[in-house]
Amino acid sequence: MQTAADKLPMPDDLKRCVEFHGHICPGLVYGYRVAKEAMELMDLRRATDEEVVAICENDSCAVDALQVMLGTVAGKGNLIIKDFGKNAYTVLNRSRRQAYRFSRKTNYEYKGKDKSTFDRLEAAFAAGQASEDERRELRRLKVDDLLTRPFGDIFVTTEVPFEEPLYAQLDRSEPCAFCGEMTMAAKMVKLSNGRLACIPCSQKS
Ligand SMILES: [Zn+2]
Ligand SMILES: [Zn+2]
Repeated sequence: MQTAADKLPMPDDLKRCVEFHGHICPGLVYGYRVAKEAMELMDLRRATDEEVVAICENDSCAVDALQVMLGTVAGKGNLIIKDFGKNAYTVLNRSRRQAYRFSRKTNYEYKGKDKSTFDRLEAAFAAGQASEDERRELRRLKVDDLLTRPFGDIFVTTEVPFEEPLYAQLDRSEPCAFCGEMTMAAKMVKLSNGRLACIPCSQKS
């Protein structure tokens, strides 16, 4: 994995993503590029509240870059993960009632200057024969390529109908009938006797 001292000069906002995520990798760069593009298209700044919402169709490294860049974070109700295993993201701007979906092109190809090295490493990787150093080098080549390519080479951008996502749920808490722990009422299961149970207890009983 690349360290801070690596070859390409790294923009400060990307550095913040790397700090949060722990390493730089192609997945993080996907999220970073998507966030930058969404910010530009919809004139967004990092959300202090829930004015920006991200719907991620995977739970990979990219999600962390979106959290840092867009302020669409796990604890605020404006990060929705639909883990379909797709490299696709929808970013919504509540104030403009606008939404864009970004999905990775199927025909992505390395276009950097180390094409022959890339192909050799990729082949070794695909065959399960790449050493740790080779894997690291392959990741570095991908990261550099993904950072420098025009966005449209990597992602398809589509404006999609704006569907207002719900705001984060605020609800009273009730004690669970079994364990007694205070639990958000809306997340509890109503038993046949009318009492409320938390999800783990309801699955045990
Ligand atoms: Zn990563
Ligand atoms: Zn319980």
